[in-house]
Amino acid sequence: MRTIYLDHQATTPMDPVVMDVMQAAYTQYFANPASPHAVGVRAFREVERARSAVARFVGGARSEIYFTSGATEANNIAIKGVAGRCPGGHIVTTATEHKSVLDTCEALHAAGCAVTVLPVDAQGRVTAEAVARHLRDDTVLVSVMLANNEIGTIQPIAEIGRVTRQAGVPLHCDATQAVGSLAVDVTELGVDLLTLSGHKIYGPKGIGALYVANRLTDIAPLAPLIHGGGQERGLRAGTLNTAAIIGLGAAITLVEETRDQEARRLAKFRGTFLAELTARSRAPFRLNSGTGPDFLPHALNLSFEGVDAQELLPRLTDLAISTGSACNSSAQEPSHVLRAIGLPPERIRGSIRLSFGRFTAERDAIDAACSLAAAALPQPESAAPGRAGQKGAAAW
Ligand code: PMP
Repeated sequence: MRTIYLDHQATTPMDPVVMDVMQAAYTQYFANPASPHAVGVRAFREVERARSAVARFVGGARSEIYFTSGATEANNIAIKGVAGRCPGGHIVTTATEHKSVLDTCEALHAAGCAVTVLPVDAQGRVTAEAVARHLRDDTVLVSVMLANNEIGTIQPIAEIGRVTRQAGVPLHCDATQAVGSLAVDVTELGVDLLTLSGHKIYGPKGIGALYVANRLTDIAPLAPLIHGGGQERGLRAGTLNTAAIIGLGAAITLVEETRDQEARRLAKFRGTFLAELTARSRAPFRLNSGTGPDFLPHALNLSFEGVDAQELLPRLTDLAISTGSACNSSAQEPSHVLRAIGLPPERIRGSIRLSFGRFTAERDAIDAACSLAAAALPQPESAAPGRAGQKGAAAW
């Protein structure tokens, strides 16, 4: 039976073009890019070509790009690296960040940092004013994601960047979910650090990149997490994953060529899916994410009233979709993102997340809506309406 893959926020399939490039890289550029001989130099040149591609992609310089094992590591290096320069400093972040940001902040809190977690509104958005209000004399970092991995909310990073720039506080932005759909420019956004990951943009898993502005490292180098052979200018030791880096470069080039038209195509499929689901579903459902310009164009989060998503998903054998965040689903915890936007527990229990991607056809969107409509059966008791999420900032 065919499976329709609609879980592109969890991961994307590798593009065959990227796979071909990587296969060639494994044989042609196997040498250690740090080796001084000709074979090593050839591998080094390809790594630097990929570094240039990442730099161009985010509007930075080649010397500002560091390769990592993915977004989790990049977020850890960014946050711990900056916080490590001023032990005991204050960090501002938001309640809907990825766990690789929130848990890193929690670890730093345990080590003596002060942390302010800003609440979000019912759409998952934080304002630049809220960030400004919570800056302190000892604030060493603000970390806000560009687009959310569960509800697709796009944060006003450029506005936040103006606030942090004026205050002289570094701004880190986890752009992992955004770069496949939105053009990103570090200068326009006013960010000092930016995270991205290969496997969310049709590249390989286990590779990511961190942009760190030279103006930040000119003041003081970031504290590395991994010590060793001095690779990545001492910030991230370890022999480079050459083939994955080359694959990331290829994936980025493909995204640049197709991003805008893809965003329009997938937004249309999302509309088709929603229209079909509305027409066919006997169980009422409500959107937990938005479909306007301030949300990712290819993603949807919705809850069927009175339906438990954990029971619904196993019945959808022809669909690959998820409940809440795939990163959290093994923990079976209610989504911290849906809680932060104020959804009641029953609506969180009913929440499913789906996202369209490069290899999705319009037929897939229609078939997925039909499957979902057939599997989601109306329940006698309906869920309570949601509450708006704006609460006070939590201080750790
Ligand atoms: N940040 C965000 C917003 C994400 O969606 C993810 C992946 N779910 C990560 C960070 C972690 O990425 P990686 O798998 O590359 O470590």
